[in-house]
This record gives sequence, structure tokens and C-alpha cells, in this order.
Amino acid sequence: MQNEIALLRKLQDYDLRILELDERTDTLRDALEELYALRDALVASLEQQKQQLEETRLLMRNKQVDLEANEERYGQSKSKINQITNSKEYAALEKEIETLRKLRAQLEEEHDSLKDAVSDFTADVEEKEAKAAEVNKQIADEEALVDRESSATEKEIGKLESERDKLKKDLPKALVRRYEFITSRRPGKVIVPARGGVCTGCNMMLPPQLYNEVQQATRMQQCPSCQRILYYENEEELAAAEA
Ligand SMILES: [Zn+2]
Repeated sequence: MQNEIALLRKLQDYDLRILELDERTDTLRDALEELYALRDALVASLEQQKQQLEETRLLMRNKQVDLEANEERYGQSKSKINQITNSKEYAALEKEIETLRKLRAQLEEEHDSLKDAVSDFTADVEEKEAKAAEVNKQIADEEALVDRESSATEKEIGKLESERDKLKKDLPKALVRRYEFITSRRPGKVIVPARGGVCTGCNMMLPPQLYNEVQQATRMQQCPSCQRILYYENEEELAAAEA
């Protein structure tokens, strides 16, 4: 039995190592997914900002056209002054010129603030474009890393799996089936030491008779509470566990 327990523990070591490698690849892929999400968000907000920039530019151009029209009317009104003889008409024209002048000041102010907005939006767009380029570079690096790592990991997993399968052949089929059954229901460690009368898998106190049997290792024992396979550590392992 002791030999079988040792082999089962070795089998479990292979399985845990394979699991760990799978998880490492998953972690790398998750990091990549996060970068994709970051890029998508950046691209979406960049599109929005570019559109805002275009709209603001258009408003600025329209304002420029308004300013030019104002300029023209102002010039025309000014040139009419010399032809006027009537003081009433003169006053009306003066009023018109004043109105145009006020309008121009307002248009200029609006044009300037649109110009400022265009310049702010341009800076934002440039900043986001730089950031997007940076993220794209990170993605390319990360993709290369994932490719490299996952092909190395796949190779290693293949090696571990074939060693594990070889080891399985040395164990009684019923035992392997039982191990696989417990593993399928309880991912992680299914062969655990019983220490100080306690199952270290679930921390439940074991019936004393069962604990004795685990110590004697005449037959394979399972924890009545969590169903994990129990073993008794040798002195070396006990010392290491207590250290
Ligand atoms: Zn247990």
C-alpha cells in the first residue's frame, strides 16, 4: 500500500503541475484580453473625440464665413457715409455700423473660443493616438510572449502527460479510477496527509480507528468527510511540516 500511495502522490504531482501550467497560460491570455479591452475603449473614445474635433472645426469655419460677411457689410456701410446728406439717414447708418461692430466683436470672441476648443481637441486626439500606439505595441509584445510561452507550455504538458500515463500503468486500475473520480469532483489535492489525527484536506478530526489504519497503511483510506485519500507522512516529511 505504501508503494501505491507513493505512486499516487507522484501521479498527483504530475496533475498539479499540469494544472499549474494551464493556469499560467490562462493568466497570460487574461492579461492579453485586458489589453484588447483597453485598446477597444481607447479606439472608441478616440473616434468620438475625432468626430467632436471635426464638428468644432466646421463650426469655426462657419464662424469665419460669418466674420467675412460682417466685414463686407461693415465696409459697405462705411462707404455709404460720404454719400449721405440727410441727418436722419446718417444716424441710422451710424447705428447700423455700431451694430455691425458689436456683432464683429461677438463673432471674434466666438471664433476664438472655437479655435481654443479645436486646439484642445487636437491635443487630446494626439495624446490618445500616442496612447493607442503604445497599447498596440504592448499587445504585439504580449501576443509574442503568449505564443512563445504557450508553445513551450504545451510541449511541457505533453511530456508530463505521457510520464503521468506511464505511471498510471503501474497502478491498479481500480485505484486510478478512484483517484480520477475524486479528482473530477475535487480539483486540486486529493491525496493529503493525515496529521495529528486530522485530515489536512478539510481539517476534520478523523475517527481514531481510521487514523490508526492510515498510520499502518495496510489499505487505502479516505477521509469520511471530504473523501480525499489519506496517507501518513514519514518522519522526514513530518519534521518538514512542523518546521
Ligand atoms: Zn477530509
